[in-house]
Amino acid sequence: MKPKIKILATGGTIAGSAKISTQTTGYTAGAIGIDELLNAVPEIKNFANVTGEQICNIDSKDITDEIWLKLANRINEIFSRDEADGIVVTHGTDTLEETAYFLNLTVHGDKPVVLTGAMRPATAISSDGAMNLLNAVRIAAHKNSFGKGVLVALNDEINSAREVTKTNTLTLSTFKSFEFGLLGCVNNGTPEFYRTSTRRHTGNSEFDIDGLTKLPLVKIIYGHAGDDGIFIDAAINAGVNGIVYAGTGNGSIHANAEKFLSRAAAQGIVIVRSSRCSSGTVTPSEQFLSGDNLTPQKARILLQLALTKTNDRSEIQRMFYQY
Ligand code: ASP
Repeated sequence: MKPKIKILATGGTIAGSAKISTQTTGYTAGAIGIDELLNAVPEIKNFANVTGEQICNIDSKDITDEIWLKLANRINEIFSRDEADGIVVTHGTDTLEETAYFLNLTVHGDKPVVLTGAMRPATAISSDGAMNLLNAVRIAAHKNSFGKGVLVALNDEINSAREVTKTNTLTLSTFKSFEFGLLGCVNNGTPEFYRTSTRRHTGNSEFDIDGLTKLPLVKIIYGHAGDDGIFIDAAINAGVNGIVYAGTGNGSIHANAEKFLSRAAAQGIVIVRSSRCSSGTVTPSEQFLSGDNLTPQKARILLQLALTKTNDRSEIQRMFYQY
């Protein structure tokens, strides 16, 4: 019996349509529906019994917390009802890593969840979408993919949701895990894994979004030369629950901005320091929490989920060292 794989489509360039086949920018993302996507890759049926569902059809720059909650709840429902052995999520590449990390923390169970997308629209010559979709289904259907956490698979490479990031605006080889490297590859159609992440995820995650209709308000503020703290002041006035400060170097904060962050912390806003460098940990400081080596956009997601459980700073710091 072939494995049952459910494809949850959210839009993006993989479902993108351009006027001419040589066009690779300036097209409409999220223009093609799940049925058309599946019909374009009939080979998928050789590997799995596939069904599709449209969660939304958007350019992933427009993703929202509400869509994340809908997607994660639907995946948990599919697994709890045994509707699928594995899930593929098709997604725009711009925020794919954020959705992947959100699901890595909120999907329960060990069955594979694989996110894929494309850098060239479906209508382009040498579009990468069809092969990426086929590979994602093969990964989701493969026994080796169980218990690995949420996976990101494009360009024949398999990355961990925790570490992967989009590194280039246009190239096909845009997704990288910098200092940690790939989890595995698709070698001539077969998924092979070479390492696993040691951080908690999916079946081992303490986060539960069941019943949540919104997430705590957390903003990212990007440190820079001459930072005067006005965005921190604005965030305080907007009533944020948390701030991720993407500092320079080892999460360093401009002295003028630090005064505002201290004021925010004194008001109970949880401050996490991360770095605008693309890799490396942020060492702990007295006053603010460390985001470890998560990118600012992933530190924001973990802080949102942490704040659904506690405001205790040492508990939240523990989470940053475990997830
Ligand atoms: N802007 C597109 C999106 O994220 C880019 C892509 O999918 O590659 O939906």
